Amino acid sequence: MQSKLLSTPRRCFAVWCEDHTERKQCASGGFVTLLSRYVLFRGGVVYGVRYNETWQAVYERVDNESMLQYLKGSKYTHSKINDTYRRIQEDLKHLPLVLFVGLPCQVASLYQFLGEKPDNLLTCDLFCHGTPPSSYLTEEIEYLKKRHKIKEIDDIRFRGNDGHNYYLTLWNQGQLLYRKKAQAQYYFSAFLDGISLRDACQTCAYARLERSGDFSTGDFIGLGHSKPFTGPLYNTSVVLTTSVHADEIMAQMSLEFPYLQCQERSIEEAYQGNPALKIRRQAHKHSRSFHQAVKKYGWVKASRYYQTPSIIKYYLKQLYIKCHHIAHLMKKTLMPQR
Ligand SMILES: Cc1cc2nc3c(=O)[nH]c(=O)nc-3n(C[C@H](O)[C@H](O)[C@H](O)COP(=O)(O)OP(=O)(O)OC[C@H]3O[C@@H](n4cnc5c(N)ncnc54)[C@H](O)[C@@H]3O)c2cc1C
Ligand code: SF4
Repeated sequence: MQSKLLSTPRRCFAVWCEDHTERKQCASGGFVTLLSRYVLFRGGVVYGVRYNETWQAVYERVDNESMLQYLKGSKYTHSKINDTYRRIQEDLKHLPLVLFVGLPCQVASLYQFLGEKPDNLLTCDLFCHGTPPSSYLTEEIEYLKKRHKIKEIDDIRFRGNDGHNYYLTLWNQGQLLYRKKAQAQYYFSAFLDGISLRDACQTCAYARLERSGDFSTGDFIGLGHSKPFTGPLYNTSVVLTTSVHADEIMAQMSLEFPYLQCQERSIEEAYQGNPALKIRRQAHKHSRSFHQAVKKYGWVKASRYYQTPSIIKYYLKQLYIKCHHIAHLMKKTLMPQR
């Protein structure tokens, strides 16, 4: 048994899945999906997050592989726990392995609920920038559907290896119905800027190197900066392990899934690159008034009012880059060759 909420990482890996079909809708390297498969192969169950019919992110108990597709991808909205901890407690009584994938605060709350960490519980926390209240995404989606005359959607994606990484995309039966770049999209840019994050996230106690999960994973930002890296740099995951059990599973997974690529890196490299592992000192300075404005005027009006300057700034920067590029090309073409 282990009862403490946070542990220092033991090892660090750069991880990516080379099976493109498996990874296509995964947020980054696809590690979490493969870990989930590993647990299901051993007769265990997985608790992860999917959307419900009103586009809230909710926990789902998954006991067969066909359901894993709904967990894939990052839902950048607050996920509802409901009775998940109680259901996990029940499963732990008779199942060989139970995997809980969640945000660091949710993993820590699970330990507090259980009062211990049973040996058959495996946890994986996600590096966390924060989450906006779930009503913000619901309202944005309702607005976008009306504005773009979209009748039905069956998926919302923020991340993926599908050619739309860091775009907000809306889908129905595999058809792309809406696509907007993160920095130019009101919901996504408010999330990235931090203004729409909940109060608890503004000064998060879990933004630190010590992790709550046996595994902890996120984007490997800064990979290869301090030491050359021979694998792919784009959208590769970082995986930190904090327990002997996690190290053993990592080794077994490498043997079991030949398409899982895994290279050991230094913990320092992961720490230096990723802001989610660093102490968060300051809340977004307009976050309080933003949340108040949402209460008073609704998500759509408040977000358009507060985020328009940020979006204009993004477009101006794009324009500047384009002009700079054209000027460079003209200079190259018009300058007499020596
Ligand atoms: C709200 C949020 C903020 C994040 N912030 C950062 C960050 O700042 N820096 C960083 O490096 N990485 C961050 N991540 C993690 C990153 O986006 C990927 O989730 C991670 O790299 C795993 O990728 P994967 O391909 O292995 O996951 P996949 O194989 O695609 O599996 C995704 C897993 O994420 C879980 N999940 C999705 N949405 C939620 C949610 N809202 N709450 C709880 N669990 C969820 C699903 O249950 C699933 O198990 C964040 C993720 C989320 C959900
Ligand atoms: S930022 Fe912190 S408090 Fe907010 S969801 Fe993430 S781990 Fe939880």
